[in-house]
Amino acid sequence: MTQSHIHDLGVVGAGIHGATVALFAARGGMDVALLDRGAVCREASGVNAGTLTMQMTRVALIPYALAGHRMWATTREWLGHDVGVVTCDGLSLAYTEAEEELLATRAALRREAGAPIAMVTPAEAQEIEPGLGEGVRAAAHCTVDGYAAAYLTGRAYRVALAEAGVAIREYMPVSAVEREDDGFVIRAATGAIRCRRLVLAGGVWLEPMLGWLGVKLPIKTLVNQLAATQRVRPVMRTVIGIASGLLSLKQFPHGSVVIGGGWQGLGGRTKPREGFALLPDRLVGNVRLAVQAIPALREAKLTRAWAGLEAETADAMPAVGPVPGVPGAFVCGSVHSGYTSGPYIAKLLADRLLGREPALPLFPIDRLLPEAGRDMAAA
Ligand SMILES: Cc1cc2nc3c(=O)[nH]c(=O)nc-3n(C[C@H](O)[C@H](O)[C@H](O)COP(=O)(O)OP(=O)(O)OC[C@H]3O[C@@H](n4cnc5c(N)ncnc54)[C@H](O)[C@@H]3O)c2cc1C
Repeated sequence: MTQSHIHDLGVVGAGIHGATVALFAARGGMDVALLDRGAVCREASGVNAGTLTMQMTRVALIPYALAGHRMWATTREWLGHDVGVVTCDGLSLAYTEAEEELLATRAALRREAGAPIAMVTPAEAQEIEPGLGEGVRAAAHCTVDGYAAAYLTGRAYRVALAEAGVAIREYMPVSAVEREDDGFVIRAATGAIRCRRLVLAGGVWLEPMLGWLGVKLPIKTLVNQLAATQRVRPVMRTVIGIASGLLSLKQFPHGSVVIGGGWQGLGGRTKPREGFALLPDRLVGNVRLAVQAIPALREAKLTRAWAGLEAETADAMPAVGPVPGVPGAFVCGSVHSGYTSGPYIAKLLADRLLGREPALPLFPIDRLLPEAGRDMAAA
């Protein structure tokens, strides 16, 4: 490839969204370059809890999450490589009357949107998950749940991307994107890459990335804490959550239990490595909920805790579609429960780039831009 080579598509950000757009665009015949300042899927897409769930997914995203779940369950067929996916039942637990009402309302809405969720009694919940502790008043049961080993995502995608002929440019921090003729120049310290069309898929870094094109889209950064136990005997066989949403729990086949639920750490996106920290009190709060749900976890020692950065737009809905005022530029990210639906939503964008009508609507960002932001982009 010479300096003047022009790719059909340049994708900046190799998380689940960028990597999937690149993969399907390349398989559809496009000449694609995928750039990341680190390795493929090593930020949110490699450190997340891996839960593939409908229970906490926003109602409007349920059809996308169901399709995403189907993709994860069949990764060997379309990705060609294993990401350690286990499909199983999921339970969301209520301990109080108010929580039971909340779960019942949520279950009804999600059921309407297509997710197979039903309310069950404590005895039925116990049958589905024999490891459950006492005090459960009711539970929402979903037969479409499960988890992946998120840390394997990058390894699997990297091979699939290379097989599809994507030019993978890892450890290439992009500092700017400029418009040139009817395409773009992507600038990094180690060189420039030219492309006719551009997808920005920067997770929490979408805000600075869109800034390169003069578009101001505020993206909130969530600092999600997670913890894992040592390997223990089988203590649970489902994915467990609670009505408040502050718990997600599953035991991987090798015995380790991953405890999450969106408890927030400190920091933000400005310094990706040193800039965020765990809050031990919140870790303890998270673990208490886990032990209440599955008492056998009392036997387990925590071996590791970490945090990752999750993006959220002002209306908590995705940012996926064209960049207003910048022909040829697209954005893809900020998807709630984005690991579950990410592959499907990003594939929809790849369809759009390939000139096919996406099977479900995208999420254009016009709704989120103040008039001034749009004017800047058009200028
Ligand atoms: C701790 C945690 C737990 C989660 N748990 C779940 C869960 O259980 N289930 C679920 O469905 N979802 C979960 N999520 C959400 C999910 O992980 C994210 O929605 C999804 O991974 C986001 O993917 P992405 O591709 O948009 O972003 P990312 O994976 O963050 O990718 C963005 C990429 O852009 C790159 N980048 C940034 N700036 C530059 C630059 N200047 N130049 C080049 N590259 C750049 C980054 O290096 C990064 O690789 C969780 C998130 C976190 C953080």
